[in-house]
Amino acid sequence: MNMADSELVLSLLNEEGYTITENITDADVILVNTCGVREHAEQRIYGRLGKFKSIKNKNPDVVVGVLGCMAERLRSNLTTEKAKGVGQIVDLIVGPDEYRKLPDLVHKAWHGEKGIAVQLSRIETYNDISPLRTNGISAWISVMRGCDKFCSFCVVPFTRGRERSRPLVSIIQEVESLAKRGFKEITLLGQNVNSYQDRNNKFDHLLSAVASVDRTMRIRFTTSHPQDISDELIETIAEHKNICKYIHLPIQSASDRILELMNRNYDSKHYRYLIDKIRTAMPNVSISTDFIVGFPTEADEDHKKTLELIEEIRFDGAFMFQYSARENTPAYKMGDDVSNETKTRRINEIIDLQNRISAQINHSNIGKVVEVLVEGRSKKSASEWQGRNEGNKMVIFQKGEFKIGDYINLKINQTNSATLFGTIEQNKTKEVTLC
Ligand code: SAM
Ligand code: SF4
Repeated sequence: MNMADSELVLSLLNEEGYTITENITDADVILVNTCGVREHAEQRIYGRLGKFKSIKNKNPDVVVGVLGCMAERLRSNLTTEKAKGVGQIVDLIVGPDEYRKLPDLVHKAWHGEKGIAVQLSRIETYNDISPLRTNGISAWISVMRGCDKFCSFCVVPFTRGRERSRPLVSIIQEVESLAKRGFKEITLLGQNVNSYQDRNNKFDHLLSAVASVDRTMRIRFTTSHPQDISDELIETIAEHKNICKYIHLPIQSASDRILELMNRNYDSKHYRYLIDKIRTAMPNVSISTDFIVGFPTEADEDHKKTLELIEEIRFDGAFMFQYSARENTPAYKMGDDVSNETKTRRINEIIDLQNRISAQINHSNIGKVVEVLVEGRSKKSASEWQGRNEGNKMVIFQKGEFKIGDYINLKINQTNSATLFGTIEQNKTKEVTLC
């Protein structure tokens, strides 16, 4: 979501004549887009701002701005000494609903005026702004912003505001324009993308309309909330060949007592029921999830339920976090009573188990042929490409004569818990699929 927002910001500034530099010491304006979901993310931003200090010492005219969720939460101390000495180097603080003001605020900052804009909006969706996309193959499209779920541990409803959706028509126009420009993959984004609603159009309507624009484009979406997984949505994903059979469906915990304290509005039985329904409709679907360990009062018995559910469901992958107490959330008042030592032990148990399962699932792909979109150079070798299969798994392979943006078929011959390795099976770019 932040990367998509950064593309919006780039677009707004590009219209005023700003361009991107790869070298930070050449920059006249340095903007950091921040996340406040966990304390660790905030600490990293303080570290980063500390590094900008030496740049500002050498070039006092450089404008430094903090954007995003953290700007919203920490506006009072980011401009002061309290923020570990970095406050005085920050010229701008701009929250996620105020990016339209950025060009003006940057202009004023050139003239020595510090600026703060952190008002949240009930209507801002940046609907009319075309993000400046630097990658010509995969595009993110934010279809809704904010969140109304108010999970007890989460700052998002406070930092990104109330839920609002973009009009369906404007999203379709954007997809049509991306198809004409040769984009091969669209990812629809939202904190709870499946609670999208534009008048009578729900997320399944949007997904179906987006998938119908160009059948050679892959369609992905993230993040889905278990509460908003409807039968119609499952049918829509199953029905359209170009909607990737991959669902990221955060559960957080398998203890019903903890889920209730988290205010997640479902229990583990309902979550299991959803997974069954999804797998019945799409037997080859890939499913990933999020877990939080060490939520207030979590006991070994609660943790054991999560381990049992992981064994039972066998997720393809998971994002696993230690609970981070966030000020002003309801969970903050419950106290952070699980020790760091226990949190570390529990997260390691979850990571070990999930890695073992991911490795087994990936190993079962050996000998299979998968379709991959070539996305770029592999991180380890200049002679290899990387790309993802439909199930969002990274596949590495020799470059051959293929180029970024090609769809190719690869036979998987080696795997580990995170990656598949393949060889070219058939020299083929994607054909039009009608369904
Ligand atoms: N809206 C999605 C949902 O609820 O299913 C998730 C969006 S949230 C920004 C991404 C993930 O961050 C959550 O699923 C949760 O696992 C994690 N998270 C949020 N608040 C957290 C906290 N206070 N401590 C640790 N992890 C947290
Ligand atoms: Fe945060 Fe997701 Fe809960 Fe919204 S639904 S409050 S984004 S965890």
